Amino acid sequence: MLQFKLVLLGDSSVGKSSIVNRFVKDSFDEFRESTIGAAFLSQTIALQGQPDVSVKFEIWDTAGQERYKSLAPMYYRNANAALVVYDITQAGSLEKAQAWVTELKEKVDDDSLVIYLVGNKVDLAEADQEVCAVPTPEAQQYADDNGLLFGEVSAKTGQGVQDTFQAIGQKLYDLK
Ligand code: GDP
Repeated sequence: MLQFKLVLLGDSSVGKSSIVNRFVKDSFDEFRESTIGAAFLSQTIALQGQPDVSVKFEIWDTAGQERYKSLAPMYYRNANAALVVYDITQAGSLEKAQAWVTELKEKVDDDSLVIYLVGNKVDLAEADQEVCAVPTPEAQQYADDNGLLFGEVSAKTGQGVQDTFQAIGQKLYDLK
C-alpha cells in the first residue's frame, strides 16, 4: 500500500471541506459549518485499471488557515500532493488559488510535489451559464503554464471528484 500526504489549499468557502467530504464519505451537506481546528481524514482507493495498487491519502484540510494567508510549515511539510481549489462562480477566486500555488512552490522544496488545480461548484454553472465567473480555458492555460494538473468538479453532485483523486493517485504512483 502506497501512502501519500495531500494538503488542501484555497480561499475560504470555495468548497475544500465539501470536496473531501464527497471523496471520503460520498456525501454533501449544504449547511455544514466551516472547518474549525485541525481536520484530518484518510481514504484509500484502488487505482483504475490497476486494482492491485492501493493508494492511501492522508488528507489535511486547511481548517481556516486561509485566514492567515500563510502556510504553517507543519501543514505542508512532507506533502506529496496539493489540491488547490477555487470557486468557478467567484471572480477573483482563481487569482487567490494562483497565490497559493506560488507560495507552495516557494515553500515546498520538492520538485516531485504534485499540484492539482480544481474549479469547484460546476453544478451552479450547469443551472445557469451566467454564473460562471472563471472561464475554463483561463484556468487550463494557467495550469499548463505552471505544470499543474487541472479539472473542474462539483462536491454537490460528485461530478469529477473521484476522477480528481484517481488522477493524483496515478501521478504519485508514476513518480514513485
Ligand atoms: P471551505 O471553506 O473551502 O472548506 O468550503 P466549504 O466546503 O465549507 O463550502 C462552502 C460553501 O459552499 C458551503 O455552503 C457548501 O455547501 C457550498 N459548496 C461547496 N461545494 C459546492 C458545490 O460543488 N456546489 C454548490 N452548489 N455548493 C457548494
